[in-house]
Amino acid sequence: MKKLIYNRDQIHKGPRARFKIVNEKGVEFIEEVSLEDHNSEVTDNNLISYKGINKMPYSPADNIYDSPKVALANLDWNNSDEIILFVNTWGLLGLRNVTVYEKKTHEQRKGIPYISLFKAFGRRREPLELFKDAVKDFQTLLNYKNLWETNKDTTIKYKGSVTSIHSVIKQMLGDVIDDAKPKLTYNGNSFEISLFNNSLLGFVYLDTALDLDRGIGLKICSRENCKKYFEPNRLDNKYCSDLCTYAVRQKNKRIRDKAIKELIQEYPTILKGEIERFVKDSALKKHLSLKEIKELFYNNYKERK
Ligand SMILES: [Zn+2]
Repeated sequence: MKKLIYNRDQIHKGPRARFKIVNEKGVEFIEEVSLEDHNSEVTDNNLISYKGINKMPYSPADNIYDSPKVALANLDWNNSDEIILFVNTWGLLGLRNVTVYEKKTHEQRKGIPYISLFKAFGRRREPLELFKDAVKDFQTLLNYKNLWETNKDTTIKYKGSVTSIHSVIKQMLGDVIDDAKPKLTYNGNSFEISLFNNSLLGFVYLDTALDLDRGIGLKICSRENCKKYFEPNRLDNKYCSDLCTYAVRQKNKRIRDKAIKELIQEYPTILKGEIERFVKDSALKKHLSLKEIKELFYNNYKERK
């Protein structure tokens, strides 16, 4: 797989928050805390590259640390605390370097007082609304990708006309990854081509485009009340984290125990061990509900009631 590189200006090391939301003349920004406000170390180790994860996170919330792609996929853009946590983990989206969003700021300029949108007294910043738009667009793109996976012939209404889902995906991704450039590097004894992007959003889109190219990508956790996106480290991963895997296992065990208890009472002539075996075999892999397990049992033991 091609290596992805994103040139992150500076990576913050240390526990203190580096970004906060500020308001200037009625416009909200995600802005760097001024240098006097914090004294933790700032390094200029400025490249992140991504190779995939090798261990599932402990809890659904830990997915934010796996990759900027999965963090953006799950980000609640209505929640300022989540936005600040995202930015303090991965940095600003780098929207001034993404042509489509840079253009959008010119349109949004109308009616906005003249203030610098991406820098204030040497501190980097991004308009909050533009940041939210970019998050919404990326999440919409993922929804379209899911739609396309369920039905490749889907059409949707896009920019006023009915369009096939695959051309919408192509256009949305293309708009952002057009800014990516191949970069040739020499690592001591061989050459290597990496895909370089000078914005975090571009990096995330490139990563998503490569997923499409390889036919893999983010999955949605199968646990009923989780449904978060996660980065699978194996093709058969179904849950986003150890906690979800454990919770589903516990829930299934409770259902099986209940089914066994009830069936023993309903079928006094059948041996307890036989009921236990039947329930465990039928329910183990399929995550059946109590009703489904019992129906399966009734069908199998019709004549013995
Ligand atoms: Zn989950």
